[in-house]
Amino acid sequence: MNIQEIIIKKRDKKELSEDEIYYFVDAYTRGEITDYHAAALMMAIYLNGMTKQETINLTLAMAKSGQILDLSDISNCIIDKHSTGGVGDKITLILVPIIASLGMYVAKMSGRGLGFTGGTADKLESIPGYETSLSLEEFKNNVKEIGISLATQTEDLAPADKKIYGLRDAIGCVDSIPLIASSIMSKKIASGADKIVLEVMVGSGAFMKTKEDALELCKQMQEIGLVAGKEIVCVLTNMNEPIGTSVGNFLEIIETTEALRGNISKDVEEVVCTLGAYAIKIAGLCDDIEANKIKIKEQIYNGKGLEKWRELIIRQNGNIEYIDNIDLMPKAKFEMQVISEKSGYVKELDARKIGEISAYLGAGRIQKEDIIDKNVGIVFNKKIGDYVEKGEKLATIYANDEEKGLNAVKHIKEVYKYADEEVGIPQMILDVIM
Ligand code: URA
Repeated sequence: MNIQEIIIKKRDKKELSEDEIYYFVDAYTRGEITDYHAAALMMAIYLNGMTKQETINLTLAMAKSGQILDLSDISNCIIDKHSTGGVGDKITLILVPIIASLGMYVAKMSGRGLGFTGGTADKLESIPGYETSLSLEEFKNNVKEIGISLATQTEDLAPADKKIYGLRDAIGCVDSIPLIASSIMSKKIASGADKIVLEVMVGSGAFMKTKEDALELCKQMQEIGLVAGKEIVCVLTNMNEPIGTSVGNFLEIIETTEALRGNISKDVEEVVCTLGAYAIKIAGLCDDIEANKIKIKEQIYNGKGLEKWRELIIRQNGNIEYIDNIDLMPKAKFEMQVISEKSGYVKELDARKIGEISAYLGAGRIQKEDIIDKNVGIVFNKKIGDYVEKGEKLATIYANDEEKGLNAVKHIKEVYKYADEEVGIPQMILDVIM
């Protein structure tokens, strides 16, 4: 087979065969196809799309490029939760211990942040000692013994996706629906879960900017799930402003811990309870979504979710003292207040711009190789719908570089947009597709 012919075929909008897709994935992963050939093919796919069959074949080829985890000796109902990525997104961290505290098994491999989006693995690593790189055996044992494992993707899990995703990121080909669907689903198939709760974020701080695109992504992921024998529920959530009250790695660990102590913001609670309710449903435990939401809420307020969160951290060698006493964590050098120069109702707080400011402070990666600064970020006092008086505090910036902190103060001030009339609280759950 010849990579040039495959590129030309896709360039000319023809459908690639199963053999051609498997050849490309296999040869590129083994280093037998150059980056420039792979980049040309990705760009042709980005521009011309893929048929349903091509998307399924690409997904399965990437899933099979490494080991496929078998967790069936633990249970035939292993739950995974995945988010397509957003700003201030700590939903996984709060939700998965809650699900595990209800007796369900959760096996979750998380990615790192890139660009304006944060990554669950980076947030976990901001807990001193927490080990995200587990062997497959350790990963499995945690699921078996404490009902939960939360780690990074092992080297041998869908290695083709790792390589292709890195390439797509470098050449501006991330936001293609079939490529995102196949990338996410290849990892989900390889990581062994049977039931998957997919949070598809929609808005300025997400890959999917419109509900229409998000629905198409859900449809494609569910089609793949059907072929792979995975039950999937997609919940579309609002990502026009950051979710919760903080953006930044350890700041989000603090928010997670506080949420599990019952100090949870309304937007986070709504998303956690809805996703959790559908997790209970697809696990086959109860179909009544409203009753399930109450069960999830109970695990927040009765401390059981927090107990499981602590158990997970201890199990993965995190120093629990930093969770029990948040003040032990060294503070960022500079704590700067963002003060409002106007009065009015907050009508806009662009998630993408905030993600970029947070990455500029050091909380995210501009380049893949960048090192994350654990304790910088932003904590919000005012969000969309809140009334602000001139002179009131909008947010606090945590910075380790004074100049960056001062610039962030200026930029965050500009991100807040006001209206004279009352503004409604944003709806968090936009749709649920089963
Ligand atoms: N997350 C992934 O895992 N892959 C993508 O392509 C986009 C988001």
